[in-house]
Amino acid sequence: MAEEVKLIPQVTPELKPFFDAARHHQLAVQKCDNCGKLRFPPAPLCLACDSPRSSWVAVSGRGTVFSFTVMHRAYHPAFKAPYTLAVIELDEGVKITSNVVGIEPSRVKCGMAVEVMFDRLSDEVTLPRFRPAAG
Ligand SMILES: [Zn+2]
Repeated sequence: MAEEVKLIPQVTPELKPFFDAARHHQLAVQKCDNCGKLRFPPAPLCLACDSPRSSWVAVSGRGTVFSFTVMHRAYHPAFKAPYTLAVIELDEGVKITSNVVGIEPSRVKCGMAVEVMFDRLSDEVTLPRFRPAAG
């Protein structure tokens, strides 16, 4: 049997707070300290007010599928086709690109309610993914 291949994201300094939170099973995004706008991925300046001051805040991890595509070909041995790449609009209004798991890709719909789950890939990296919301 083939050994499982994992593709582990690189933890850059900009994303370290995101991965630190994920290791503790919290989803975190950047928040502008000036105007309060949330953003992801992280950026050095607020896109709304240009402020360089920001913090990382925990969000609920609940949201809806804003958009998605189903990949029918695996371009890396770590991926098992078919799989779903999706833009999730969190309840707090910020969007995050991730996967929808725990459901056949053919059953994923825009607008469906999802919640975060945490996939531990290594000691350092736990990756947030989304599954259909309970209830
Ligand atoms: Zn701002």
